[in-house]
Amino acid sequence: MHTFSIRAVSADNPKSEVTPGARMADDPAVPALGVILALGLASAAPPAKAAPRYPLRPLELVVALVEDPDFPPLDEQVVQVALRSAEAEFARRFDVPAPRFVVRYRFEAKRFIDIYAHPRDPACKEAFAARYKGTGTKELAAHREEAMKFLKKWPLESLKGFVNPEDRAQIRSYDDIYALYARRYVAQIDTIKRLRTPAGTPLLEPERSYERSFVAWLCALKTQSDFDVLVTNTFIVSDLLTEPHPHSVFGKAKIGGIATQSPHRTALAGEALLATTFGIDTTIPELNELNGKVPSLEERARLLGAYLLAHEIAHSVFGIPDVFDHPAGCLMTSRPGATYLDGLKELDAHPTPCPKCRPYVEARAAYEKGLTELEAGHAAAASQAFLRSVQLTPEHFHGGRRRRLAAVTMASSKAQAAMGQEQRALRYARLAVKLDPASDAAQTHLAALEAPTLAPGAPVIEASRTTSTATTARPGKPSGG
Ligand SMILES: [Zn+2]
Ligand SMILES: [Zn+2]
Repeated sequence: MHTFSIRAVSADNPKSEVTPGARMADDPAVPALGVILALGLASAAPPAKAAPRYPLRPLELVVALVEDPDFPPLDEQVVQVALRSAEAEFARRFDVPAPRFVVRYRFEAKRFIDIYAHPRDPACKEAFAARYKGTGTKELAAHREEAMKFLKKWPLESLKGFVNPEDRAQIRSYDDIYALYARRYVAQIDTIKRLRTPAGTPLLEPERSYERSFVAWLCALKTQSDFDVLVTNTFIVSDLLTEPHPHSVFGKAKIGGIATQSPHRTALAGEALLATTFGIDTTIPELNELNGKVPSLEERARLLGAYLLAHEIAHSVFGIPDVFDHPAGCLMTSRPGATYLDGLKELDAHPTPCPKCRPYVEARAAYEKGLTELEAGHAAAASQAFLRSVQLTPEHFHGGRRRRLAAVTMASSKAQAAMGQEQRALRYARLAVKLDPASDAAQTHLAALEAPTLAPGAPVIEASRTTSTATTARPGKPSGG
């Protein structure tokens, strides 16, 4: 459910020498097949369509399971059914081919955070500096400007849904929304600090540890290089003060899912995902997402897969942000006050793709069509598809519109090079680097185009050096969106 936009790339990746957790059987789906059939998942998922409207390229995602012993354990059957359910739901919601999940790793949560999340890691320290330590409203003040900028991504009207109906008339500006957030969020964290896990340990001690911190999990997703998806059972508190995600900070202040930067992973083009079963399985009434209803095994699996994971994949693949003004049945919507089960029921009642999400899907489909044409040697057709993708890419974009435009522009540059348009290829390559200075792929591509002309004093080299100095001098700042 979350974007994250700090762009500094770690110079020394501390993970390279780390061995990930125990490897699991390569395809654990096989033993679970009987379970899937027994549950009648086929009735929950629609029959597969012969040809999706948007023929995206195959997507395989490597999964790691991360278990916190203080909470109800991850249920292997639930996880397997959830993954199949996420695959089917994603395909159905967006009229695209189903992705495929493969479980490869298993970790213990504390150890996982010890391995992957270090507050002094250059890739993470900016976010750790904005982590809420639970000491009150004063702590929020230093990050007010960025928090306001973040809230302004949504129309004020759509944020009013988080305000009690009787108070809505008093919300006239983003300042009013911010003031309400500051009050409600601080009070909610105080409540959480008084709660205990089923094991009897404190649920959250933000002054003493960060193992259940959103910031720490973002950091872990960013620094690792082994998986695309984390499934965990732990509690994760929403504590990044520069990104007050409305449906979290106006609600229970916890995180159900994450889609964020993971520059070492390519399957989701530099992103990785997380979903937690905590809100589904917890016995802590203040934080349970089902209003105390005990879900069936199939409901647990579909909440984890169809409701959380499929939503997170859509953030990464299509760039659809969390939205609060799309019609009923939109997978990217979290309704204020609605439980997970309400959300799932609403999805089931509206099985067709959301029309307001469609521009994102079409922009992605055009981009992928371009890539396929390029590989087939049809550079002109590829070039047209890339142009169309740029035109279709919406303004409010998960992870920043500039990052996606940089990827498409780099692909356009390759198409131009294939057509022998060297100057244009170079221009597009420079533009891609300018759009996303943190992109290693864009930098490498530009360097490759410039390499053959690296003769001392050649005018084109001077121009290019100026460009790259100007872009690398930019701080690794969010690219908006
Ligand atoms: Zn989301
Ligand atoms: Zn939608």
